[in-house]
Amino acid sequence: MAATSSGWDFLDLRVLRAQTLGPSMRRIVFGGPDVDRFRSGGRDQRFKLFLPREGEAQPLVPTWAGPDWYAEWRQLDPERRAVMRSYTVRAQRPGELAVDFALHDGTGPAGRWAASAAPGDRALALGPTDADNAGVDFRLPQGTRWVLLTADLTALPAVAGIVAWLGAERPELPVRAWIEVPFERDRQELASQSTDVDVRWVARGGLPGAVLSADRLPAGTPYAWLAGEAGCVRDLRRHLLRERGFDRARITFTGYWRRGASEDELLAA
Ligand SMILES: Cc1cc2nc3c(=O)[nH]c(=O)nc-3n(C[C@H](O)[C@H](O)[C@H](O)COP(=O)(O)OP(=O)(O)OC[C@H]3O[C@@H](n4cnc5c(N)ncnc54)[C@H](O)[C@@H]3O)c2cc1C
Repeated sequence: MAATSSGWDFLDLRVLRAQTLGPSMRRIVFGGPDVDRFRSGGRDQRFKLFLPREGEAQPLVPTWAGPDWYAEWRQLDPERRAVMRSYTVRAQRPGELAVDFALHDGTGPAGRWAASAAPGDRALALGPTDADNAGVDFRLPQGTRWVLLTADLTALPAVAGIVAWLGAERPELPVRAWIEVPFERDRQELASQSTDVDVRWVARGGLPGAVLSADRLPAGTPYAWLAGEAGCVRDLRRHLLRERGFDRARITFTGYWRRGASEDELLAA
């Protein structure tokens, strides 16, 4: 996320409840004093989540979410400063903000935190206080005739948000989505009012192959949104550019994580 400006703030959250969604994912529903100051723009709304370090009662962050917040956060003692990770809003309603966490075998602090989070646990979000904000990357270019989405579990919450948004705003646009999940029981019902949505659930390791072998895609100018493991996203983008003739300006792509590197290591690289 870019350095914050006005329109973003540190927001004090508390876990209200947790829900197991499948073998690999847990939904944490946050409430807390600032939850209604969070204004999601929907779609793939991203934000930074700050979790307390072990031994700390609350997440230690800079006192002010000004333009230099990231430099200030870096100056805090690495042993004490909060764990900072990127997440997506899965859903928001008055008093509640839902975030779906991929648990990924307990290898990272955020996944571990989510696996055991309980009512009352504290967290902070560096979140938007205006729904019209730069943390929404899904932006339909003019002239789009159909939409292609690819995701792994980490980007499934974003795809759910995008599909819901398209159903409300552009229900006539055909949507083709490929979502990679570790287990069949990780599949989710994606609510949409779109008239032509085709979601393909792909087994672990099935992306990008499933997209490469797709033979019937809708006609007309596409817009593609790709997110998930960085290497997989890179391969998919390359395929769309080289083999499918997509216009690079019509592909939004984001590595949500990289195999073998923590988010701290990615930010420091
Ligand atoms: C814009 C954006 C939005 C995101 N939204 C979500 C979201 O809504 N839900 C969500 O679950 N994730 C989301 N992510 C991904 C999430 O930030 C990363 O998976 C993050 O690395 C998790 O932090 P951690 O502390 O658990 O693991 P880290 O400490 O960052 O990593 C530890 C190890 O685990 C590996 N690892 C990290 N994530 C995974 C994974 N999913 N599967 C397998 N191995 C992994 C790393 O390669 C590393 O080796 C998003 C990322 C971005 C950039």
